[in-house]
Amino acid sequence: MSQDSTLNTAATYTNAGTPPQGLYDRCMGDKSCVLSNLGMTPQGLYEKCLALANNLWWSWHPEVINTFRTLDPIRWRHLGHNPIALLQEFTPERLEHRINELVLHTRIDQSYRRMIEYLNTRPDWAKKNVGVLGSQPVAYFSLEFGVHESVPIYSGGLGVLSGDHIKSASGLGVPLVAIGLFYDQGYFKQHLDASGWQQEEYLDTTVEFLPLTPAFDRHGNKIMISVETRTGTIHAKVRLLRVGRVNLYLLDTDLEENSPEDRELTSRLYGGNNRTRIRQELVSGVGGVRVLKTLGITPGVYHLNEGHNAFATLEVIRGKMQEDGLSFEEALRETARRTVFTTHTPVPAGHDRFDSGLMEEHLGPLRDQLGISHDQLMSLGRVEPYNTNETFCMTVLGLKLSRYANAVSALHGHVSRRMWAGLWPHSAEEEIPIGHITNGVHVQSWMSWQMKTLFERYLGMNWSQESIDPSEWLGVHQMDPGELWETHNALKTMLIAFVRRRVSRQCRRRGESDEVIEQTRNLLDPQILTIGFARRFATYKRATILLTDIERLDRICNNPDKPVQLVFSGKAHPADNPGKEYIRQIANLRHDPRFANRIVFIEDYDINVARHMVQGVDVWLNNPRRPLEASGTSGMKAVLNGALNLSILDGWWAEAYDGTNGFAIGKGSHHVDDHITDQRDGESLFDVLENEVVPLYYEVDEHGLPTGWIRRMKYSFSTLAWRFSAHRMVADYALNAYLPAAGGVSCQMPSQ
Ligand SMILES: *Cc1c(COP(=O)(O)O)cnc(C)c1O
Repeated sequence: MSQDSTLNTAATYTNAGTPPQGLYDRCMGDKSCVLSNLGMTPQGLYEKCLALANNLWWSWHPEVINTFRTLDPIRWRHLGHNPIALLQEFTPERLEHRINELVLHTRIDQSYRRMIEYLNTRPDWAKKNVGVLGSQPVAYFSLEFGVHESVPIYSGGLGVLSGDHIKSASGLGVPLVAIGLFYDQGYFKQHLDASGWQQEEYLDTTVEFLPLTPAFDRHGNKIMISVETRTGTIHAKVRLLRVGRVNLYLLDTDLEENSPEDRELTSRLYGGNNRTRIRQELVSGVGGVRVLKTLGITPGVYHLNEGHNAFATLEVIRGKMQEDGLSFEEALRETARRTVFTTHTPVPAGHDRFDSGLMEEHLGPLRDQLGISHDQLMSLGRVEPYNTNETFCMTVLGLKLSRYANAVSALHGHVSRRMWAGLWPHSAEEEIPIGHITNGVHVQSWMSWQMKTLFERYLGMNWSQESIDPSEWLGVHQMDPGELWETHNALKTMLIAFVRRRVSRQCRRRGESDEVIEQTRNLLDPQILTIGFARRFATYKRATILLTDIERLDRICNNPDKPVQLVFSGKAHPADNPGKEYIRQIANLRHDPRFANRIVFIEDYDINVARHMVQGVDVWLNNPRRPLEASGTSGMKAVLNGALNLSILDGWWAEAYDGTNGFAIGKGSHHVDDHITDQRDGESLFDVLENEVVPLYYEVDEHGLPTGWIRRMKYSFSTLAWRFSAHRMVADYALNAYLPAAGGVSCQMPSQ
């Protein structure tokens, strides 16, 4: 985001997103022409709808979503909640007809005005807190962004976190520009075959249906960048996606100038081999810095979200040497001073490593310009700089080239300091400069509008979902328990309807009998305690822990007075056969009469499935092998809708659980032997379910309300909702990392 595109009214319409061949083009950019044509004419209404569809601002505004849905509820669902695809099916006249029929003029007009007003105001928070970043925004690099299910350029937690980060940066008004890759096939679509085995399908995204425009430089030329390697040059074009006040630039190598291999370089997330990976990271890191330069943006801070983009630092160094005449060492210090690095996983396979040959092929030309030797370059990615057996690790590069490094929860901070202690051989563990900023989620995206409406009714119009002031959430304790319970149950009923639709579709695709399909209409029971489990099927997340004692699971699920049902979802990485085996075991429980109507698996976990699940379940289950879950964020989404967390004391839950606001599995310890840990955690999970969770849920007063349960829901809201929000997270980054890096007041990053 350059200053002139955010705050200047002249850029109003551009900021709202320009429809292809739209009014903006026809008016040749003349604003008064645009505005005078944006009346209530059929074309005007159509343009307003398109303008709304072209900035993902709509995706966290339920009233806009409802307007789109109302236009054609069935097509809305079939088109995967994609408003541009929906609008393509209308002519302006047909749309106007429909709008008349439904009396939507005012709604469309108000939404449009709200968006324009949003885009043209600078939030008070930003005015007070982040002034120095004004002309030098934060450049936020991530390899995936999960903003909405209709824009499939994310695979899971890291992407959703980046998406939530930029939404909250937009909300708080932190000047930030984001850089990523455009994947025209995204991540795979999952379905299971008749045996329950995961099948991956890659579909081409219809690019015309995404709210993308080409990115232009200051002279009005489409931006193209290139990155040299020893074996040829990779070219990329740049697409712009608008997310509220934030511009997200996505590099795309699908160009005729590239070799067939490179044209496909950015087609899939995490596809290909290590060579594909280093080339993707070269394009997003080095190419990303070049995009900013072409745009005329001089970032005050570089935030590397995960090591994937750490090559960016080398290009920043090159720029400083070339433009400011600094030596390599001086430029390196200057760059590190402005770089914030976030590490996301304690799992070793999560840290990219490249061998010497791949490094020389891809970084050779840049290294020549930096004037350093191959060994010098390699040493920047090694824990032991001179150990020639060590490969080049992107996390090490990130840590060496940033003054502000952080993990994503307090516990992950401890683990990361221990994990990377070798980089600071002379420091005691507590002196290692890796702090933590615990993750958070974008409240407006994840809290259902039903729950939001209830809160507004009780907490008053001054209450805001965005509030990170704990006292503003305390009013939840005054809420009528019956109404809270009713709202929760309405959401649960919606989840069950969703499950029935999806499972019926799954059965139809597998060609199952009419009888089987018919049965899915009655799947699950809204009266029953419902547990949700959805995440990547990495084995350390131990999705099958409840299957280790199937008899006991049967007793819990089929207790005649206090039954329990479970909804599972999640993808395994295409190369992860053990993960796929876990999915198979869970999915095949549908053939076991004991679990056929108690345990379901929803295929193709994505943001849409996640939203339904976190909004509708009673309990959100999380049982990773401690301490491998760096943070986890899905449980935070569940909090916002009244679900109680039942979790291992790992990641965020280790600092969130206080005895009143959910349930803990285990005591926050782990054994050196994984088998022993798994066995103990499994037993603890069963014990907590049988002795705490199930009894509390079914203990009702004379009005049929589970009062103890509802009290816990309220504690969960009041102690967690504000604290694990993305607004709090971005505020922490801004005050404790961005400002000091940009040369403002220095604060210490928390590191206990
Ligand atoms: C929130 C979310 C995740 C991350 O959840 P974890 O708790 O970190 O496992 C992954 N995928 C999707 C689609 C999500 O919405």
